[in-house]
Amino acid sequence: MDLRIGMRIGNGYDIHRLVSDRPLILGGINIPHEMGLLGHSDADALTHAIMDAMLGALSLGDIGHYFPPTDPQWKGADSLKLLAQVNALIQEKGWCIGNLDTVIVAERPKIKPHIAAMRDRLAAVLQISPDQIGIKATTNEKLDAIGREEGIAAYTVALLVKSSESSKKGES
Ligand code: MG
Repeated sequence: MDLRIGMRIGNGYDIHRLVSDRPLILGGINIPHEMGLLGHSDADALTHAIMDAMLGALSLGDIGHYFPPTDPQWKGADSLKLLAQVNALIQEKGWCIGNLDTVIVAERPKIKPHIAAMRDRLAAVLQISPDQIGIKATTNEKLDAIGREEGIAAYTVALLVKSSESSKKGES
């Protein structure tokens, strides 16, 4: 793998099913709603899409490889803790986040009132500025499964840049 170029880009996607009796957690924020996302972990689809984009940028595989849903230790896992681990991994390899751009696709509830809190929470975990995290939200215009409120999806593009420490050392 040629990592001499100082920038790497990755994309991530995730979707989880909406069910009763689960909290709705996106970007580490608990959003009041009568339904929540089903999953082995806390089912934070936005955070999962971010992790896959970060891993994808360095061709490191996907979160299923690092945190398999068959492993009981990830049952109910706080996805922000997994995100911190993925961030540590890319830092070990000499990379840091340039910026993240994300989209949440949800028919309901309204996501916009929670975006500032999500950016702050994710930025704190990733040790970057909220300005480096874009979060947009859209509905699916009542189309398909997301439009029928059966699930919520998230997309992320991540730009990673070589960290200045590793550039100084001339690592590739
Ligand atoms: Mg997921």
